[in-house]
Order: sequence, then structure tokens, then C-alpha cells
Amino acid sequence: MSSFEESVEELFPGALPSEEFLDQVEASVGPMGFTPERTLSLVSVCRDELTSRFTTRIDQRWGTAFTLAGLGGVPALGRTGWQAALAHIPAKTGERGCVLVFGFPHIGIEVDGTVGFTQRRGQDHPTSTCGALSQIFTDAQSGNLPLHVDVDDYEATTLSLRLVDPRMPPATL
Ligand SMILES: [Zn+2]
Repeated sequence: MSSFEESVEELFPGALPSEEFLDQVEASVGPMGFTPERTLSLVSVCRDELTSRFTTRIDQRWGTAFTLAGLGGVPALGRTGWQAALAHIPAKTGERGCVLVFGFPHIGIEVDGTVGFTQRRGQDHPTSTCGALSQIFTDAQSGNLPLHVDVDDYEATTLSLRLVDPRMPPATL
């Protein structure tokens, strides 16, 4: 077993390759009437380019997905975005369509088993993955969480405020 596989098994027992996971989803919801023709998939994964292959696999099985998320994989679309998503469900008048929601955070695991980092294409050193969630953790540890939404850093500050109460004392490990 490789160091990568050991880390996955230790920290995420039962984790599946994405194709196997999507096979299981299809087997679970197919008998309930979910078909690509009458289903809109809503995908909430981090905007990190590393997640795009997973989204592509969903697109290939279920049709092009509606994107819910921003940084960290948390829905960031707001009321108007939700209204748009729900208005796009494939259903003719009087019929009901289906919505299939995929929502995931992500974390990098290097080939040597190091958790929380990824060496990306064209780079010579690993960087934090998920970088947004890692930054929020660092800010929480140092007592530097934002206290309000910054319109010039909307997604990150909104995500931080949704995940951590900045009035709480820094977490300890
Ligand atoms: Zn991320």
C-alpha cells in the first residue's frame, strides 16, 4: 500500500474513487426515477481547478451541472442563484423533475501521504488544498478571522463568517 493510500485509509476510511462513488449514486437514485433527462445536478465543490475533473464526471453522467459553490465547496450563490438553479430543473408544465445535489469539501493528499497539500501542475512545491479552508483555519488559530464581509474578498470572508464564529477564542489542537 502506498503512503497516499495509507493516509486515505487512515483519515477517510471507506473513501471511494469518484467513478465508483458516482456508480453508487446512480444505483441508489436510478430506481427512484432519477434519469439524466429529468434531473438537474447541482454541484457544490470548491472552485479550485483540482475539482473540475469530478464535476466533468458528473456532467458526463447527468448532463451539465448547475454550479452552487465558491471557495471551500460551500454554496455561495445566494437567493437569486438558488432561484435560478431551481428554475432550471428539466420538467414540462405539470411534471416534476429531479434535483441531485453533490456537495463536497476537498483536501489534498500528496504521494508521500502528506495531508492538506498538493503539488500543482507547473509548480515545484506543494500548496495548501483546500487553500481557502486552510487559510480560515490559520486565521482562526491566530485570532485574525474577519468580523464582517469584505466586498473585495466576498467569498473568503463570507465563507469564514459562515464556518467560524470570530468572537470565539482561537481553537487549540
Ligand atoms: Zn479549495
